Amino acid sequence: MVKQTIQIFARVKPPVRKHQQGIYSVDEDEKLIPSLEIILPRDLADGFVNNKRESYKFKFQRIFDQDANQETIFENIAKPVAGSVLAGYNGTIFAYGQTGSGKTFTITGGAERYSDRGIIPRTLSYIFEQLQKDSSKIYTTHISYLEIYNECGYDLLDPRHEASSLEDLPKVTVLEDPDQNIHLKNLTLHQATTEEEALNLLFLGDTNRMIAETPMNQASTRSHCIFTIHLSSKEPGSATVRHAKLHLVDLAGSERVAKTGVGGHLLTEAKYINLSLHYLEQVIIALSEKHRSHIPYRNSMMTSVLRDSLGGNCMTTMIATLSLEKRNLDESISTCRFAQRVALIKNEAVLNEEIDPRLVIKRLQKEIQELKDELAMVTGEQRTEALTEAELLQLEKLITSFLEDQDPESRLEVGTDMRKVHHCFHHLKKLLNDKKILENNTVSSESKDQDCQEPLKEEEYRKLRDILKQRDNEINILVNMLKKEKKKAQEALHLAGMDRREFRHSQSPPFRLGNPEEGQRMRLSSAPSQAQDFSILGKRSSLLHKKIGMREEMSLGRQEAFEIFKRDHADSVTIDDNKQILKQRFSEAKALGESINEARSKIGDLKEEITQRHIQQVALGISENMAVPLMPDQQEEKLRSQLEEEKRRYKTMFTRLKALKVEIEHLQLLMDKAKVKLQKEFEVWWAEEATNLQVNSPAVNSLDHTKPFLQTSDSQHERSQLFSNKSSGGWEVQDQGTGRFDVCDVNARKILPSPCPSPHSQKQSSTSTPLEDSIPKRPVSSIPLTGDSQTDSDIIAFIKARQSILQKQCLGSN
Ligand code: ADP
Ligand code: MG
Repeated sequence: MVKQTIQIFARVKPPVRKHQQGIYSVDEDEKLIPSLEIILPRDLADGFVNNKRESYKFKFQRIFDQDANQETIFENIAKPVAGSVLAGYNGTIFAYGQTGSGKTFTITGGAERYSDRGIIPRTLSYIFEQLQKDSSKIYTTHISYLEIYNECGYDLLDPRHEASSLEDLPKVTVLEDPDQNIHLKNLTLHQATTEEEALNLLFLGDTNRMIAETPMNQASTRSHCIFTIHLSSKEPGSATVRHAKLHLVDLAGSERVAKTGVGGHLLTEAKYINLSLHYLEQVIIALSEKHRSHIPYRNSMMTSVLRDSLGGNCMTTMIATLSLEKRNLDESISTCRFAQRVALIKNEAVLNEEIDPRLVIKRLQKEIQELKDELAMVTGEQRTEALTEAELLQLEKLITSFLEDQDPESRLEVGTDMRKVHHCFHHLKKLLNDKKILENNTVSSESKDQDCQEPLKEEEYRKLRDILKQRDNEINILVNMLKKEKKKAQEALHLAGMDRREFRHSQSPPFRLGNPEEGQRMRLSSAPSQAQDFSILGKRSSLLHKKIGMREEMSLGRQEAFEIFKRDHADSVTIDDNKQILKQRFSEAKALGESINEARSKIGDLKEEITQRHIQQVALGISENMAVPLMPDQQEEKLRSQLEEEKRRYKTMFTRLKALKVEIEHLQLLMDKAKVKLQKEFEVWWAEEATNLQVNSPAVNSLDHTKPFLQTSDSQHERSQLFSNKSSGGWEVQDQGTGRFDVCDVNARKILPSPCPSPHSQKQSSTSTPLEDSIPKRPVSSIPLTGDSQTDSDIIAFIKARQSILQKQCLGSN
């Protein structure tokens, strides 16, 4: 058992604006516990606290200042936890802090650079690397990804995500067994046999989470996400299985409700979040106070799920993420205070060992059988005295009649007395030995008689001896041949084994490297995992296609608007950069692949050459009647060293290619994610602009009778249903006199794009409204603008593009 208080670390995010001097200082004296001092400027202190305290000091295990990179965070915080998880202990790392302080950046990573990958991908990489190194145990790894939003649990890896939206899926619920163990119903566990499979699951979950998010519901700041790696290990042949769980938790933003200060829907959410974190705080207070018998874990889903991580069987680490800018100082102080309380909690982590019931059953069955046998033989009382003379006689009689009995079914019945059983065996053995001696005597006397009668002739004897010698020679030759054959076969097997290992990944067609833009994936893994990879990739890409590929369904004007939006979006630079890097990596991988193939064929050639030389030498030996030299000649030595060199080169390149593959996969996933984000933002912008135009200009209303960006046949159906149920509570259906309806669920997470034409109105407008009427009558400059010059120029550009297209269309149709 390991007793340990929860480890607390602080990470300070680099400021968005120029560094504001003197707000905080980090004291990392080697001898003392590191401390973080937050200094309140006088003006803030006045309003903030009554006693006008100006500085606050908090102690942490370590403080990572702005310049700490992701690698440092992983090495210092996550690696030790991953290490203890590999040893069989439960582990939890959770990030706590206000929105924007870097929780997601720390736990999952930044969405831009490969070097920005966070604790989850790095931990996966580390764990799989360690598992590969350790061949003494059999490991299995499973992944689950849970999101808790408004006290409801959602499975981010539910395969039904593609078909339905998050809130239509069965909710994950907490169940408690009589031993107070927590079980999560409806949370799927996915086996991951490689790092790539696990990484794909992470990105799948993240994408699902992002897609479920709507502008009114920035769930990522209001929901908790728990990525869990479930690891079990077993030594071969042993009945003991070890289970360990590693929770990597990205908590909701910790900002207080007072600051959120928004009405309606958002307030409900803020209240929930606050409640959820409030319950976490209560649990932590209860745990940090001595002599508290009741800990209110059951008050919220998150504290139930993380019950073991808080004051239980787990090694837990907290990262307080801080955004130390002037306006965030009160939140930062509150985060640090929370951390100080957390640091008081003591956990007791134990090895979670379990006996495999199947193996135990086998062992017990064997034992039962043995006991049954014994019981059948033993009458129950211990007998120590020897058998009587009469009993012995009786037994011998029984044995004699048993032996004489011709019936094969006859049995020797001596009862359950072990002494009698043993005596029977002894007696039988004696009889057998006596018989053998007798037989030997008769054989030797007979042969003696024969010798006397017919002595072997000298000539015949010699002949036989010659034949024997000849046969002996033949046997020797054959044995030698066999030995050589066996050795050859073994060598071939060994080489084949090596080849399989080395070439497994490069069978023909050896390296198919596609154009990154076409989304082709480089696949190097072995066949079974390849199939799995494809299934996961397929799942992901079909999901992404479903979400991204909808652009194909966009109208021309909308596509144009999207192109403009994309061009001016800040992320496009990153996407382009990543594209460039990806291209570079691809061509590097391609070149490496080619070199590997070259090396491979060279290895083959060299092997072939060596074999040819062998054959030549043997042939030479036979024709000139010379023994084959034992030592390989110089030429062969040279070939062999070349072969070794080539193999080394092959291995080096292969290792590099493998690393490159991980990087390429990661970059592709990042780009996929960025694309979804861009499209989602476009969709939000589009909806906003359309609403603005609708509200401000009825003429512009009819501008768009194309399908809304995210509209699918499902949502259409859903909407028409809603339309018919418009009086049902919760849904608001507004007829704006334009044949359009705004439908939104006050409680649900999903917001339908607005404006959304009913199929009916769509049909009407496309048949009865002449196209010219669709062109806005007002000059572009009179359309209300947002004040944000970037957005405004986008709107203007978009409308201009739209006008010119429509005009062209009119001219064409006339
Ligand atoms: P949170 O999850 O706490 O709301 P994020 O992780 O989303 O915050 O961070 C907000 C923004 O700040 C993101 O754009 C992120 O990339 C950036 N960021 C956060 N921490 C760092 C850091 N240590 N270095 C660089 N950028 C960071
Ligand atoms: Mg976040």
